[in-house]
Amino acid sequence: MTTALSLLKTVFGYPAFRGAQAEIIDHVSGGGDALVLMPTGGGKSLCYQIPALLRDGCAVVVSPLIALMQDQVGALREAGVNAAVLNSSLDAQTAAQTERDFAAGKLDLLYVAPERLVTSRFLDLLGRTKVALFAIDEAHCVSQWGHDFRPEYIQLSILHEQFPDVPRIALTATADEQTRAEILTRLQLGEARVFISSFDRPNIRYAIAEKHNARDQLLAFIRAEHAGEAGIVYCLSRRKVDETAAWLTEQGIPALPYHAGLDQQTRARHQDRFVNDDGVVIVATIAFGMGIDKPDVRFVTHLDLPKSIEAYYQETGRAGRDGLPADAWMAYGLGDVVQQRRMIDDSEANETFKRVSYRKLDALVGLAEAAGCRRVRLLDYFGEPSTPCGNCDNCLNPPRVWDGSEAAQKALSCVYRTDQRFGAGHLIDILRGNETERVQRFGHNQIKTFNTGTDLTDKKWRAVFRQLVAMGFLEADQHGALKLAGDARAVLKGETSVSFREEAEKPRKRERRSSKASFIDSLNNPASGPLLDALRTWRAATAREHNVPAYVVFHDSTLEAIAANPPCTLDDLRGISGIGATKLERYGEALLMIAKDS
Ligand code: ADP
Ligand code: ZN
Repeated sequence: MTTALSLLKTVFGYPAFRGAQAEIIDHVSGGGDALVLMPTGGGKSLCYQIPALLRDGCAVVVSPLIALMQDQVGALREAGVNAAVLNSSLDAQTAAQTERDFAAGKLDLLYVAPERLVTSRFLDLLGRTKVALFAIDEAHCVSQWGHDFRPEYIQLSILHEQFPDVPRIALTATADEQTRAEILTRLQLGEARVFISSFDRPNIRYAIAEKHNARDQLLAFIRAEHAGEAGIVYCLSRRKVDETAAWLTEQGIPALPYHAGLDQQTRARHQDRFVNDDGVVIVATIAFGMGIDKPDVRFVTHLDLPKSIEAYYQETGRAGRDGLPADAWMAYGLGDVVQQRRMIDDSEANETFKRVSYRKLDALVGLAEAAGCRRVRLLDYFGEPSTPCGNCDNCLNPPRVWDGSEAAQKALSCVYRTDQRFGAGHLIDILRGNETERVQRFGHNQIKTFNTGTDLTDKKWRAVFRQLVAMGFLEADQHGALKLAGDARAVLKGETSVSFREEAEKPRKRERRSSKASFIDSLNNPASGPLLDALRTWRAATAREHNVPAYVVFHDSTLEAIAANPPCTLDDLRGISGIGATKLERYGEALLMIAKDS
């Protein structure tokens, strides 16, 4: 008898279900409706792909992004599943053939763009075909308030009206309650069982560093942790994207720019290389990322502060979809806060929107300045309680927290005595007693706070000013001049005490991939060696030949498992995660040859 578990093993080559997968699959296979909320990389696809294989007829999957559909179908075909796609990228002949195959019951899964699905012609075709289930991927696209709103998604309620007996499963990685409610009502999923997974991404290590020289810090980070691996570097401006990509390339790191200012062709080419080649770094504005399903992105870094925790979480979530260790690293400084505030100030938005934007920015700044576990704060923001994770910078390398009341008083007083017209650099010169030309010109060597701050280094003063802004005791104007704000007077009078966070001096050298999660430990082998290199080369060639991304042939984890225990017989390959029956048959001999020769 075919069971969900046997399909998981034979078709997909995975030994066990993750999280709620088994329960969801059981529910949908039995004919129930479901709403599945799972973080990116949680394994949503199997939740409808396995029921599709278990139930009679063909499953119809609605997906908003052509590139995503193509990759999913490519992966299913590699695994020996009869899957096809219908969207605007097909020529008329191929589309007609696919429709005939569908009607003839030759397909297990059909991916369809929403606008095509709701045409009367297609609905008619559905009426004449045995449909196993409807899967509605990226179901948050139905939400009018979300940023991915797709009007055609609203019309998908028609599926329930016309085909009340076909089970439906809606899936999304968007967590908030409002979106969830909207999905349930708009898609008429009132009877659906709701499956909510934890939104934690335990394999992602979060780190937020004080910004000194962001480029050098980035380079050091990539060289130390991710040489030769794929990653995304987010910057705010197009110019910075171009400059950073060029500079990384000069330093020997293959990096490509991506932003809306590049022509369509260049963008497509760069995205393609990032997805298909090994170890390409893409430097991008936030225009990049939606619909990129690449599982082996090993790091996501931010050289500029995003707008909100939501944006930060979505962008960093593109790392480590395959469940292997990955890094989210951000460099953050006073300039970032000033810049983001200015962007809100200067925007055309109304006051309510601006207020919300400030609040969101403050929450993110709070995360950046946090002395406690980053993950606890992130999950708390999404309403999920948790305990310190052991896999973020603050857990691994706790920052020192010091009583900064006196330093805060000096800093604020210095701002006050210079008429609130100067930026942090000049104020620090005054505090540290540097008789610069500017200090002399303004007579600032005569004021009371001059030379009172020699006990702290430049760098430490910078951190003080940044944190005072983050705490709302100072406010920066357009030009970076600092003004007293909020309860600054209470601090000046000594009525409010202030403590500062100090980044631990020397980050403990990463014991490669050590973490409390044992599944991460089990994947600890440093990825290198001639066999692994040979496997990668073979994978790249095979992927090109089959016209699919490399990860569709095999994930890194599968190649690493093969390299760790070089196989002598086909049997040795059986049971390695990611090698199902079809792939074993198709690639087994080739893998054995490579193992023998390396
Ligand atoms: P999502 O759509 O939730 O972002 P996917 O369905 O793309 O996630 O799954 C993420 C990755 O995890 C995929 O590469 C998939 O093959 C893998 N995966 C999913 N379920 C399992 C499982 N039970 N065991 C091992 N790998 C899995
Ligand atoms: Zn932590």
